[in-house]
Amino acid sequence: MWKKFRRTVSMRTPLVIMLFVIGFLPMFLQGRLLLTSLRQNQIEARTLEIQNQSLILSNRLTQSGYLNGEVTDTILDSQMDVLADVFNGRIVIVDGTYRIVRDTFNLSEGKYYISEEILRCFRGESSNKYNRDKHYIIQTFPVYRAGNGAIDGVMVVTASTAPILSLTNMVGEKTTMFEGMALILMVIGILASVRLYMGPIYDFRRALKRFAAGDMDEIQVDAYKETKEMSAAVSQAFTKLREVDNSRQEFVSNVSHELKTPITSIRVLADSLMSMENAPVELYQEFMVDISDEIDRESKIIDDLLSLVKMDKSAAEVMNISQVNIGSLLELILKRLRPIAKKRNIELTLETIREVTAEVDEVKISLALNNLVENAVKYNREDGWVRVTLDADHKLFTIKVADSGIGIPEEFQSRIFERFYRVDKARSRETGGTGLGLAITKNVIQMHRGTIQVSSVEGEGTVFTVQVPLTYIS
Ligand code: ADP
Repeated sequence: MWKKFRRTVSMRTPLVIMLFVIGFLPMFLQGRLLLTSLRQNQIEARTLEIQNQSLILSNRLTQSGYLNGEVTDTILDSQMDVLADVFNGRIVIVDGTYRIVRDTFNLSEGKYYISEEILRCFRGESSNKYNRDKHYIIQTFPVYRAGNGAIDGVMVVTASTAPILSLTNMVGEKTTMFEGMALILMVIGILASVRLYMGPIYDFRRALKRFAAGDMDEIQVDAYKETKEMSAAVSQAFTKLREVDNSRQEFVSNVSHELKTPITSIRVLADSLMSMENAPVELYQEFMVDISDEIDRESKIIDDLLSLVKMDKSAAEVMNISQVNIGSLLELILKRLRPIAKKRNIELTLETIREVTAEVDEVKISLALNNLVENAVKYNREDGWVRVTLDADHKLFTIKVADSGIGIPEEFQSRIFERFYRVDKARSRETGGTGLGLAITKNVIQMHRGTIQVSSVEGEGTVFTVQVPLTYIS
């Protein structure tokens, strides 16, 4: 329920509610508590005051023998009237026959007055009761017979608590007014401070919206540690996206360029043939061979591109894993490349340190290794050598392809795995390279969760080291 509510409101709302509850609730409860204890306190004080005054009066009544009818004490009567006035109430004296002998209201003298409190009081138990609903305190006091201590009568004192009520009501009104003002101030304060507190979050949101709208400005909201980290994370993600986008654009433009080159050559060859009148058949044949070479090149580029595109799909979809004898696979690759190597008297050898059978996609791994050995032959010198070694431990198998070729300058070594990247364009073209071979190889190795590394010295030779897990990890 809370989660659902949170999803539908702004981040500011729960914060405002929380601050309001934390700030206002204790203040409100404290106000109510103070008011209740004030009322109770006042009533207790009033009860005590009545008790004291009434005790004095009841003593006087006892001493003066009021109930014996011996003396008619007008001073006591007027004292009673004054006290009843002070209490904002009524004093009633009941004699031993439960007859009212004195009533400060002069309403019920001569009448009988029997109540539980009066009966108890005759037994010596004074009572004291507060009527919350009708707002009065009623107390009973015994009036003794002078000399022997027998109870002759009961004095019933009723006092109104209305003045206390109006006092506490007034305090209550003031408290409510104060709470109202505090509430308004608190709401203004909370809204202002929440706005201030949330400012950086809103800045961040604004920056993100601007970004989404295409304004590629740097996102930098470093008001808080969190917004700083979020800005950095978002900027990083966008930088990566931009890099991916750039490399895609570069790839598309490279593809177009590479595909156009053979077509341009074909066009030039065809145009020049057409512009020549009565060109000899030999020339036609020669040009046709060139045109056919260019067509081969074009189809090789397209084949390589298709291999790459296929591998860009999710690995699980395209992997066809089986147990493959890697040594036999390498032997087959070397056997196929030997005729080309022989043309330039390059020695091709395979050293198997340990026999290896691994879980790989045979077609793909064969393509990857073929590219490495083919490159070692292509970028080699006359009478050079290519040595392929196969080894393994309990987890990985390692293939090293070392050659005595032209080497790769240090500054280009990190770029050779990029699509269409060639150190020497002219040489690569001569040897029929597309610049996609190593990109394909690296892709294949990565699909097998393996690694590929290059170490090379210009003019001396190159070593490619491939390491692939013996069991396929999907
Ligand atoms: P290409 O089709 O041009 O051979 P690759 O992707 O296979 O494309 O290789 C990229 C570039 O790396 C090559 O053009 C070449 O300059 C360099 N290269 C690759 N292998 C070797 C090697 N064994 N010796 C020297 N240079 C190499």
